[in-house]
Amino acid sequence: MSLGVSVVPMKTCSYSCVYCQLGRTVYHSIARKVYCKPFEVLKVVSEALDKYVGRVDYITFVGDGEPTLYALLGKAQRLIEVQGWAKTALISNASLIWRRDVMNDAMGFDFVSLKLDAPTEGIFRAINKPHEALRLSRIVEGLEEFSRDFTGFLAIEIMLVKNINCLEHVADLFAEILRRIEFSKIYLNTPIRPTSEKWVERPRMRDLAQFVARFSKYVSRARIEVLPLEEDIDEVISSASSIEHLLEIAKLHPLPLDKVYAKMVELLGEENARSYLETVLRSGKVVIVKYCGKEFIKAF
Ligand code: SF4
Repeated sequence: MSLGVSVVPMKTCSYSCVYCQLGRTVYHSIARKVYCKPFEVLKVVSEALDKYVGRVDYITFVGDGEPTLYALLGKAQRLIEVQGWAKTALISNASLIWRRDVMNDAMGFDFVSLKLDAPTEGIFRAINKPHEALRLSRIVEGLEEFSRDFTGFLAIEIMLVKNINCLEHVADLFAEILRRIEFSKIYLNTPIRPTSEKWVERPRMRDLAQFVARFSKYVSRARIEVLPLEEDIDEVISSASSIEHLLEIAKLHPLPLDKVYAKMVELLGEENARSYLETVLRSGKVVIVKYCGKEFIKAF
């Protein structure tokens, strides 16, 4: 399993993706800052590892936004790497990969996942709503350079949104860019949790299949993975050791209401679970949102 450590606070990001599960970006920034000290990251990871002894394969750096905005990312990664607990992974939106310092920091990880949702500047602006100083061409140059020197596993992640980038002719445009990048695998994803913009929709199955078929003309099928359309969230929810822990998870990750409620019953008993849920809903600490016909809990 992978243990996630968040190094950037809610919600600081260089993008404001239309499908973001964290809502619209509050702090739209490309400035790298010191949000915490590396030894504080080490402490949090060390404490979390106590709960999952022997079960963690990767310690993954993520943000409640974009993790490369953390100026001491490389130092924190090295500090964890030398402990020998597990491999390290970085999940980034790639927006700053053209910067030498960000490239150097990312180089130290065993696994790096970089987002590339758009093959043109227009689609980039429509889907990722980037900080005004960012340009897709510069990011692609950075991806190209990073991929040449990186020796770990490089994943490219593409989020496919109905009528924006999940179109056959867009697959051709992606292929032109991806020819320049030496990646290990491409993950094709679709928005499976509530999105920041209400109009966002998951692609129709037919469109997704056509996109994958077209894409496979350029990239071998073995190097393409279409991520599941349903999320297996049970392990995440069952890992919650208290009601507070459960709501902490729901701050970063909207959770299906039925599964959260079942966990609340397990932790508090049937009667207390119902009144607890009513109380937190009234207080505005959580809200219920509908997406794709399902109800999710989001916490704040
Ligand atoms: S999806 Fe990721 S990159 Fe996009 S706005 Fe949300 S946190 Fe930022």
